[in-house]
Amino acid sequence: MTSKTIGILGGGQLAKMLCDSANKKGLRTIIVDPSEDACGRLSATKHICQSYSFKGGLVELAKESDVITYEFENVPADCIEILEKQKAYIPQGKKPLYISQHRIREKTSVANLGVKTAEFVKVENVEQLKEGIEKIGLPAILKTCSGGYDGKGQWKIEKVEDVESIELTKKEYILEKMIAFEKEVSCLVVRGLSGDIVTFPVGENIHKNGILNVTIVPARIEKNLDKKIQEISKKIIKGLGFVGPLGIEYFVGRDGEVYFNEMAPRPHNSAHYTMDACNVSQFDLHLESILGEKLEEPKLIKKVVMLNILGEDKEKLEKVVEAENTKIHIYGKTEWKIGRKMGHINFLGDDVEKILEKVKSI
Ligand code: ADP
Ligand code: MG
Repeated sequence: MTSKTIGILGGGQLAKMLCDSANKKGLRTIIVDPSEDACGRLSATKHICQSYSFKGGLVELAKESDVITYEFENVPADCIEILEKQKAYIPQGKKPLYISQHRIREKTSVANLGVKTAEFVKVENVEQLKEGIEKIGLPAILKTCSGGYDGKGQWKIEKVEDVESIELTKKEYILEKMIAFEKEVSCLVVRGLSGDIVTFPVGENIHKNGILNVTIVPARIEKNLDKKIQEISKKIIKGLGFVGPLGIEYFVGRDGEVYFNEMAPRPHNSAHYTMDACNVSQFDLHLESILGEKLEEPKLIKKVVMLNILGEDKEKLEKVVEAENTKIHIYGKTEWKIGRKMGHINFLGDDVEKILEKVKSI
């Protein structure tokens, strides 16, 4: 029997790490990414270097792949249609993309399952923005409905006058009430083709300039809250009927409530800790889910703090030495640009406070 080929739309670091997992299983991989030096090519069997919407590249991908998946949520949904017309097998389908590409669709679909979110309204012009502020109150946060990431395309509104400095150039925005949160946390949940669902432990996330800086696991929250967040995550993936991995971000409010913030139907930066701290990684489970295999039950083997390495952290990285409790992952991107995710380090141990001290000292 020849080994199966996994087709991946997108060729960034998530694709690279997915290919690494596939390589361990003896699978072939093909990435599609328009960038010549997409770092996924370093681990993929083949790189189709073409735009996601170029039909020729998609036809080639469909022809050569047994199963197709995606590594980022902004793959144009019509790519999936083109692939399906070519009789390609895409078990996750386009629904997870359609929902997560648009913040209002995303929050509405999750709120409809009975999960709490920040109060929100749709905004298309300045009048609606002012009405929205009247309705939900301040402080609030305005976000573009699509295309925003790492805090980009967002404006915090503390007072009514702040509206004057915002130029609404996009068609649709979401205005959300600011949640007074104690912590930001996330949970990676995976649903297999047979409907089985597993979750990884909840991670506590700390951001710097809108970009994830560290993830602490276990999150420093009550054990039953950790369990509750994993249960909510299962309810969301089941309720939406998604297959594959789903990274879900939440706020733990100062009122003790859990609020859904956003989700991505792919491996998530905040679950990179699973590569070294768990019996199975988020990438391993991504593959198991789309291949129709029985999902392994994730277990945390070591406590862990994951530190993201950005373009400006080259010197920091040079101070760290790989060891049994320090696992360095560098993605192989060519240019070290400010704010660009270049790699991450998993610091393992038995006490998260001690690990955090070590991380802060570098
Ligand atoms: P992105 O796609 O950029 O990650 P998010 O919706 O996660 O967008 O927002 C980025 C950050 O802004 C969050 O991690 C959080 O710190 C803050 N934020 C976003 N929405 C809210 C909200 N409703 N209340 C409080 N803080 C928020
Ligand atoms: Mg976010």
